[in-house]
Amino acid sequence: MILMHDIVRDGDPVLRQVAKPLTFPLSDEDKKFANEMMQYLIDSQDPKIAQKHQLRAGVGLAAPQVGRSIQMAALLVPDDKGNILFKDIFVNPKILSESVRKACLAEGEGCLSVDKDIEGYVPRPDKLKIRYYTIDGEEKTIRLKDYPAIVASHEIDHLNGHLFYDRINKENPFTLAEDTIVIS
Ligand SMILES: [Zn+2]
Repeated sequence: MILMHDIVRDGDPVLRQVAKPLTFPLSDEDKKFANEMMQYLIDSQDPKIAQKHQLRAGVGLAAPQVGRSIQMAALLVPDDKGNILFKDIFVNPKILSESVRKACLAEGEGCLSVDKDIEGYVPRPDKLKIRYYTIDGEEKTIRLKDYPAIVASHEIDHLNGHLFYDRINKENPFTLAEDTIVIS
């Protein structure tokens, strides 16, 4: 089971590395690791289990955040009623295209690897077309928009050594392009 003390925090160089692509078939060890990352998200979104194990709630977790510099990330994105908007594990994801129009979360972003609150809008593409592989090696091409696209962008950023606050405008953290969608 992945616990908070397994999560690498900002300042660790692994979070700034470009993660290595995986080759198929994945090893049993890598599949197990992928499923453990997803299990962390499931548990962290269950208030009772989260409290018992002191898990901070997360909607995405990338392998470098658990200290492994490989191209793998779990996403479990619920809406505000608890319905699942997107759930899968990305292996070797690649953004094929993105909208020019940006979106951001009204409350900014957080990250399991960043302990302090960093205020400011985090503009990201509102729409993404992504190709990735499942842990069984099936190729998928998907289109995401709004909140699930933001989560996917955040996780793929981790695989490229970027953290969410890199995208905040340093001088004017709450200034946005005119047509940016603010999601609340
Ligand atoms: Zn993060």
